[in-house]
Amino acid sequence: MDAKSGARERFESARNSLIDLSHRIHAHPELGFEEEQASSWLCESLADAGLAVKKGICDLPTAFRARAGSAPLNIGICAEYDSLPGIGHACGHNVIAASAVGAALAAAKVADDVGLTITVIGTPAEEVGNAGGKILLLERGGFDGIHASMMVHPAPFDMLRSKIIAASMFEVRYTGKESHASAFPELGINAADALTIAQTALGLLRQHIRSTDRIHGIVTNGGAAPNVVPAHTSAKYIARSETLAQLAELRPKVFRCFEAGALATGSKLEITGGDKPYAEMLHDDAMATFYRKNSEVLGRPFPNLGEWETRPTGSTDMGNLSLAMPSIHPMIGINSLPAVNHQPEFAAHCVTPDADKALVDGALAMAWTCIDLATNREVRERLMTSRS
Ligand SMILES: [Zn+2]
Ligand SMILES: [Zn+2]
Repeated sequence: MDAKSGARERFESARNSLIDLSHRIHAHPELGFEEEQASSWLCESLADAGLAVKKGICDLPTAFRARAGSAPLNIGICAEYDSLPGIGHACGHNVIAASAVGAALAAAKVADDVGLTITVIGTPAEEVGNAGGKILLLERGGFDGIHASMMVHPAPFDMLRSKIIAASMFEVRYTGKESHASAFPELGINAADALTIAQTALGLLRQHIRSTDRIHGIVTNGGAAPNVVPAHTSAKYIARSETLAQLAELRPKVFRCFEAGALATGSKLEITGGDKPYAEMLHDDAMATFYRKNSEVLGRPFPNLGEWETRPTGSTDMGNLSLAMPSIHPMIGINSLPAVNHQPEFAAHCVTPDADKALVDGALAMAWTCIDLATNREVRERLMTSRS
């Protein structure tokens, strides 16, 4: 039996338990850095499959590492398993996590035969938008010794190289002064007005930014009562650009809009976060080509998507990994349209037979891609020297 058939056979024996794992994670959504159950379940599954597991790495209790094989070439499979506030697994990270386990146990079966070490890295908190799990793990040595990384991410349709852009999430706080809103308004300093001015300035700024830039946010505290001048308001915003370099140009313009609110009202402004932005994604050509072929063999081609091929999509800390080592992040279709990521309707789609099929195909396509990377001499040599 060849290596790919061996990997497939191993995967098929675990198929039902992996679908169960995906559904279990989906039914118990946990927010970033709080993924206690999901990380425990994933570690149990990997340990049961014979991988050497370490939970709680790099001072991140819900991060983990699981390893099989002993060859010098070490490929990392990233598992994400955090959810979104209020709408659960509306980004389908349950499918990401289960497909990562599936890919690893399938590749582990043949790892030593093909000269491969396979490592699953449990990467918490992808949805937080700043200082995501992969960024902290990278900083703290969690990816040391790994030569290339990959994961698959659910989406309405299959897309090999989605245009993933840089992003910076930050929090804004204004402090003014309370007063009776009617009897003594002249004694108040209105921190809600400061936010209104900032939002107006951001609206005007949109004329003068790149069409690929994004600015969006929410007010997290707009005041406590209409008859009390709001003294404390806050908001969370995300600025995005095609690259970290463009983002570095956009961000000060955005910050100035918030400064305008403080200046006009006399409120005090504090901005936190935004210090560890998500980077744009560089898709490794050879890895993407292998993945495409494997996906096609599984009956999952990548259709031409027209404008979607070039249109900016979301952001992920997988982008930061892709700047540090050869990486891919294919989007795997769950046939959810008109439902799209970050909608409750999409969350409902993440446990359908189409989502389960995506889990299966994604796991096998990744396992086979790992085998290709290990057995293609030219690519193997490049990957082995990819990191200094
Ligand atoms: Zn996601
Ligand atoms: Zn998401």
